Amino acid sequence: MAKVVITGGAGFIGSHLCDRFIAEGDEVICLDNLITGNLDNIAHLFGHPKFKFIKYDVTEFLYVPGDVHFILHFASPASPMDYVKYPIQTLKVGALGTHKALGLAKAKGARFLLASTSEVYGDPLVHPQSEEYWGNVNPIGIRGVYDEAKRFAEAMTMAYHRYHGLDTRIARIFNTYGPRMRIDDGRAIPAFMTQALKGEDITVFGDGSQTRSICYIDDLVDGIFKLLMSDYVYPINLGNPDEVTILELAKEIKELAGSKSKIVFKPLPPDDPKVRRPDITRAKEILGWEPKIPRKEGLKRTLEYFKQKLGV
Ligand code: NAD
Ligand code: UDP
Repeated sequence: MAKVVITGGAGFIGSHLCDRFIAEGDEVICLDNLITGNLDNIAHLFGHPKFKFIKYDVTEFLYVPGDVHFILHFASPASPMDYVKYPIQTLKVGALGTHKALGLAKAKGARFLLASTSEVYGDPLVHPQSEEYWGNVNPIGIRGVYDEAKRFAEAMTMAYHRYHGLDTRIARIFNTYGPRMRIDDGRAIPAFMTQALKGEDITVFGDGSQTRSICYIDDLVDGIFKLLMSDYVYPINLGNPDEVTILELAKEIKELAGSKSKIVFKPLPPDDPKVRRPDITRAKEILGWEPKIPRKEGLKRTLEYFKQKLGV
């Protein structure tokens, strides 16, 4: 039995990770300041003898009593709307929060896993993106607070590995979706689903020709788990290479919801990546991992969640 600390554990991905480790029989300590997360995501775990929630800002000094075996650092605003709303908090949790989480890992001799992102590739000039690509990030643009914080976090993680010999892992996570995404987090899937279910206009930014490659949450959690249990210390892309334009995605969601909503076009936010698709050769070879859940199936499951949330 392992003791696992999950920062950002009350968020979308973090809460699914809490479930996974509890299901493995491990003890989970979830640290979250609830800036973008929600206790509803972990309410079902309250009262479980192996689950503990601590409301805490992980940019402050971290103390956890007793042994810790794994630290998964997932705390960070993650939707473009959130990190535009909380620019300083985003920089702080990526920089100071990562430093504190690494410090805790060093003090406990724990294995550390960083939730990095495809955003380290910025608006990529190489397609698809492999881990060797160094990226095309605008450091002073509105997305820079997130991209640069995560790039710093990767650098800090490698420094702790090289200088302190810390056992570290870096997951470069591509767009992930599924139940427990926040209805109003501004990301394309919650926005399109909510709009389609309420019969409101579906807001596609730009002409909708930009692409994303979307991975269902269960596949991602499996990839994170396999990466944590591997001995590979360099970054690994985790995502679904099944690429789709945003306009096509909006049409698919409208159809799945049986909605009469109109698709309307709004201005494209600055620095919005034009294409994004992971090269997952490394994950396949090193972890024996690849996503299994087809887009249509994942979207259906997610739509069910939003139907329940909206009571429609
Ligand atoms: P989320 O907003 O649902 O979860 C993030 C959680 O971190 C929230 O519960 C929030 O309250 C918490 N948090 C933020 N700052 C904190 C702080 N200072 N102290 C304690 N808790 C703090 O977002 P998510 O989609 O679940 O993303 C989780 C992680 O995965 C993030 O690090 C994000 O960068 C990374 N990621 C997500 C995606 C994706 O598609 N969802 C893609 C790439 C990377
Ligand atoms: N997007 C959109 N309408 C929305 C929200 C997002 O067209 O209501 C677009 C956004 O401009 C981007 C894509 O959908 O091109 C994915 O956006 P999301 O916020 O989900 O993730 P990210 O840009 O971080 O990949």
